[in-house]
Amino acid sequence: MRARNTDMMNGHITAPYSNDLKCEVCGAAITYPESLQLQVLGYLVCQSFDCRRIMSQKSSMIPSLFKSHLQFQREIYNERREKEAAKKIYIEEAWAREGQENQTILQFILDKNSELSENNTHVLVIPTGLSRLVSLSKERVKNYTEHLKSIINQAMEYTDSSKVEFDQHHDIHEKLLEVEQRFMENPVLLTISDRICGMCKGGCCTSGREHAYLSAITIKRNLDIDPSLTATDILDLYLSNISSETIDGACINQTKTGCALPKELRSDICNSFYCDSLKSYQMNLADEEDPGMLLAIQRASTCWNTIGPDVSNEVVNIALVQEKDIRFQNISMEYIKEC
Ligand code: SF4
Ligand code: SF4
Ligand SMILES: [Zn+2]
Repeated sequence: MRARNTDMMNGHITAPYSNDLKCEVCGAAITYPESLQLQVLGYLVCQSFDCRRIMSQKSSMIPSLFKSHLQFQREIYNERREKEAAKKIYIEEAWAREGQENQTILQFILDKNSELSENNTHVLVIPTGLSRLVSLSKERVKNYTEHLKSIINQAMEYTDSSKVEFDQHHDIHEKLLEVEQRFMENPVLLTISDRICGMCKGGCCTSGREHAYLSAITIKRNLDIDPSLTATDILDLYLSNISSETIDGACINQTKTGCALPKELRSDICNSFYCDSLKSYQMNLADEEDPGMLLAIQRASTCWNTIGPDVSNEVVNIALVQEKDIRFQNISMEYIKEC
């Protein structure tokens, strides 16, 4: 196939054409039918908002100025692309390295505990919650109060929770019922999950900030249970549960001893959420009466930290968890690393 080019001089796309047509900013491939649609513009551009914005400036800029502007934008784009590619490689390598490390730890534990085997020992990699305790700032209380007032006002407008405007929080209630059903059928899973979350200390609560995942529907469900509650009662109820000391950088309700909010006041999101590894463990073993032994390998980052060169994700704890207890191995990490 021959090359079809953009004629920069007269601004028209000229024949012959090829299948290697490219966006003039980022170099993304453009199909021939797409290029026909672009003829009216007089340049080749992909669907990206940024590329379109940059090329749309062409008609209003002096050609020489636009040329250097375009060159500058291409350099920024290439730099970003190189960074993303390097990050992707880093993540793949880190995943492979951590997978190997987890496997070494499993083997070490199996060698030390003859009653365990790969068939009855499940490996679960869990994150770590933040732990620095700080005094709760007035600013955070103010933001939380504003959020609460806003959702309480919304909730007061509806006659009952089924009338609350449809949003992502509706589906979550169904999910919560499914999770509760699974635990009712297999309570051991709940006991073990509680043990694991206690060990992790809220690796998933770091994103709760001053909204705590509360929305109008949580408030309305409380009102359905006790319709005599006024807006002030509900606000006071939530505010009375905040602690004077909270975990820095996490949800306003996260304290040294866990979530300060009683379960019935938490959102369905909080009550139904399990991180991916704990969720897959629960799903895989939902039908097992005896879920066997769980080897929990705890890593340093929180649930939401993206793996990257700046984030430490080393192993910080290892435990054997079962229904009755948690057995900490007290294994020196240095020793494991040398295995
Ligand atoms: S659900 Fe996962 S991230 Fe959240 S507390 Fe439990 S183990 Fe930690
Ligand atoms: S309300 Fe409680 S469970 Fe929900 S994010 Fe905050 S600390 Fe975690
Ligand atoms: Zn582009």
